[in-house]
Amino acid sequence: MTPSINQRIKALNPRQQQAVRYIDGPCLVLAGAGSGKTSVITTKIAYLVQECGMSARRITAVTFTNKAAREMKERVGQLLKGKEGHGLTVSTFHTLGLNIIRGELKALGYKPGFSLFDPEDAKALLRDLMNKDAQVDAEQINAVQHQISQWKNDLILPTDALSHAEDDASHFAARVYEAYVRHLKAYNAVDFDDLILLPVVLLQRDPDALARWRRKIHYMLVDEYQDTNVSQYLLVKLLMAERSTFTVVGDDDQSIYAWRGARPENLVTLGEDFPGLKLIKLEQNYRSTGTILRAANTLIANNPHVYEKTLWSDMGQGAAIRVVVSRHEEAEAERVAGEILTRRIKERAEWRDFAVLYRGNFQARLLELKLQHYQIPYKLSGGTSFFSRGEIKDAMAYLRLLINPADDNAFLRIVNVPRREIGPGTLEKLANYATERGGSLFAACHELGLEQQLPQRAVERLGRFTHFIDGVRKRMDKGDAIAAIRDMLRDMDYEAWLHQNASAPTVAERRMANVWILIDQLEKSMQRDPEDISASEDTETEGVEAAISRLVLRDILEQQAEEDDSDRVQLLTMHASKGLEFPHVYLMGLEEDLLPHRNAVEAGTVEEERRLAYVGITRARRTLTLTLARQRKTYGELMDCAPSRFLEELPADDLEWEGRLDKEDPEKKQARGKDAIAGLRSLLG
Ligand code: ATP
Ligand code: MG
Repeated sequence: MTPSINQRIKALNPRQQQAVRYIDGPCLVLAGAGSGKTSVITTKIAYLVQECGMSARRITAVTFTNKAAREMKERVGQLLKGKEGHGLTVSTFHTLGLNIIRGELKALGYKPGFSLFDPEDAKALLRDLMNKDAQVDAEQINAVQHQISQWKNDLILPTDALSHAEDDASHFAARVYEAYVRHLKAYNAVDFDDLILLPVVLLQRDPDALARWRRKIHYMLVDEYQDTNVSQYLLVKLLMAERSTFTVVGDDDQSIYAWRGARPENLVTLGEDFPGLKLIKLEQNYRSTGTILRAANTLIANNPHVYEKTLWSDMGQGAAIRVVVSRHEEAEAERVAGEILTRRIKERAEWRDFAVLYRGNFQARLLELKLQHYQIPYKLSGGTSFFSRGEIKDAMAYLRLLINPADDNAFLRIVNVPRREIGPGTLEKLANYATERGGSLFAACHELGLEQQLPQRAVERLGRFTHFIDGVRKRMDKGDAIAAIRDMLRDMDYEAWLHQNASAPTVAERRMANVWILIDQLEKSMQRDPEDISASEDTETEGVEAAISRLVLRDILEQQAEEDDSDRVQLLTMHASKGLEFPHVYLMGLEEDLLPHRNAVEAGTVEEERRLAYVGITRARRTLTLTLARQRKTYGELMDCAPSRFLEELPADDLEWEGRLDKEDPEKKQARGKDAIAGLRSLLG
């Protein structure tokens, strides 16, 4: 029998119970990681419905990431029965904003069917607007985009921005801001930050709309409150001001979104705006072993604190924290993938029990390849998986066309990438002609009859393209297939094309590097194991064809796997991991310049990086492994890396080091070998 709500509440500790039962006024739960803040929210929703008789429709719970919202929904779903949960809102702040905009289109002056601009769309609009006055580069566009986003998060409208602009640069940005807002409106479009800004502006100036939403939402719960920005806080305040019925939970040590306008001071502001605020602190951690918790506490003690908190756990000490040092980033990825493979069996764990966390999405790409190599199912959250990146899709299309000229999809993807001035009109006629002849697009380009269908220039352009591909294929037949593929990419100057289409040179460089990784991978998968007697004596071309087909298959499997979210290793950034927990956690890249990130060191925001590391560490329930590389490729160059300062801040006695920090001196290595042999001898007597 499922336990009743009262039994559920009794299973909580007294402070948690108090937080759940307190409904007379505003309530703030302030506590460290894993102390059951989210559990208070989910139990409280059930309590409001089942004990206080509040309709679920009147309850709104918000959090920050989609993943966290999904998880919260799941937890609440287990507590509510049948129709009880009908109409309940559990969403991200932005989804709540989107719903308000949808419901208030008329009041906002928008037409139905408005579109939501993603950051790339927004950037394109900004580029148009900014290029009107003078030629601007990608960096300037990024800076203005960031500035506009900050204004929106701080609820500063274009007129305020203009009147407060003190120098030419901010004056220019404010003028672009004004034009940008006007154009968005003309396109009947909103951007990401508008999802919060527009509802706040509306509720501030339109008492009818405000009354409508206050009638709708009777109780509000906010998770991860430390990461709200000014606009988000105002949204909560506007909606809740009258009734003061809300519960917010947060942890100032986990504030990691200052760069997006988050204001951890909102924790203090809340007390000022709502003098009746009830503050409840939780101290017991139910998630992690003593060792993991001690590491987290010791690390975060290096930051100044708004509120002092203590956090303890009675989960036992558990295993030591492992620190694994690898030669370079590839060895690091190999190590993590290899370990997960063996530890799954040793620990009798599921794939989903493992999570690999990192600072930036780019760190995932090598790991992805290694996981695929071992056929370990994984799920990459946020960021784009390796095979769904545009540049990888382009390169794969070239490879597919090389081994199969009849692959029309591949042909269509790259016939004009890089630009060959082959337009949609030409392609349509070519397609009609090919269908008539019952052949492929590629074959149709060679047909004499095509000249009757298309202007001379178009025929020539198509001919040049097919001739180019045929040439590469001939080279592949003759000898070094991989060299032919590498030359093909260089000859058509794919990199220049990437640069024309990227928002910044570094983005284009990273994309090109991804393509080279793919080709390296292809080369590796061609090198057959000499011990493998099943391998036939095929020619080089057959070898490359087989290797390409294997890559294509992987790509397809990957796409299918995307739909099934069940038992897979989780790959995510530390930012995206907030609120989640996993039995076994790997934290990668504990190096200076990566964690803490170089930009943060330069900007003097190491404290925020420390909080990020704190978030990462506190995701682990049973084991935590920290990894780092001695060398890493940065902007195409192999650079030496120094271990992260955060490693030094952890309790040394709890760390178990594997691998060496310095490059080993061969003499020392020999001496060590001798020592080991001597040691063995003495052991054997
Ligand atoms: P974070 O700061 O990382 O978001 P949190 O404070 O929200 O963490 P929860 O995720 O709610 O913490 O809880 C952490 C774990 O502890 C969960 O597995 C939860 O089920 C468990 N837990 C919470 N409260 C209790 C309790 N009173 N008894 C046993 N387990 C609990
Ligand atoms: Mg939580």
